[in-house]
Amino acid sequence: MSYFDSFSISRKLGIMGGTFDPIHYGHLVAAEAVRDRFQLDKVLFIPSGNPPHKNSKNVTDAIHRYNMTLLATAANPYFEVSRIEIDRKGITYTIDTIKELMTLYGSGTELFFITGADALLEILTWYKVDELLKLCNFVAATRPGFNKKDLEQKLHEIKSKYSKEVFQIEIPSLAISSTDIRTRVNNNHTFKYLLPESVEQYIIKHGIYRE
Ligand code: NAP
Repeated sequence: MSYFDSFSISRKLGIMGGTFDPIHYGHLVAAEAVRDRFQLDKVLFIPSGNPPHKNSKNVTDAIHRYNMTLLATAANPYFEVSRIEIDRKGITYTIDTIKELMTLYGSGTELFFITGADALLEILTWYKVDELLKLCNFVAATRPGFNKKDLEQKLHEIKSKYSKEVFQIEIPSLAISSTDIRTRVNNNHTFKYLLPESVEQYIIKHGIYRE
């Protein structure tokens, strides 16, 4: 029996994919905004494993990113965290994640993959993108100051090539960025109120982002 078999009403699952290094309020607001806009039944946060475009040496250990995501999402009953990518060996491609989730949740489930617009600008280079666009909806979260022209152009290209609409949603609180938080920690500057206090305490306790 799949997860949604016990809920007969709707079957819409948000998949929040990202490195979450660290997770911050911008990510949480984006997930909640998309949940509300598309009336999702839940949002599954999936900290990335070893994606093809990143050098894993520059990314914090998966277990820390997973634990921080657990702490950050604990208060929202619609949010869950998955180890599906961090437990997978080798390069982690989104297509494999989507297929695994379809098996787990049942084929009647509509999937919405949510991620940063910068990441989605590159989607045409992703592994098996044609199949991916058939299986799943995509939502691009933009941060203030983001060049929407590039995004509109890319979304237009995707629509004409694959007849697929990629949704976009503007998230003002995505002015917060993981890169900025890492720099602040390393330079001994405050990073309070940019992420949940539990995550702040976790970073301090484990000495993460201090070179
Ligand atoms: P990234 O390059 O670290 O981030 C790109 C931008 O998007 C950053 O500005 C980032 O801000 C923001 N962002 C990342 N995740 C977000 C989210 N869930 N909501 C809102 N903003 C978000 O991108 P990434 O995290 O490595 O990759 C994003 C997702 O795409 C991952 O799930 C990854 O596995 C997938 N991906 C798949 C393939 C493939 O299958 N071939 C290739 C590339 C990426 P912050 O730094 O503040 O988070």
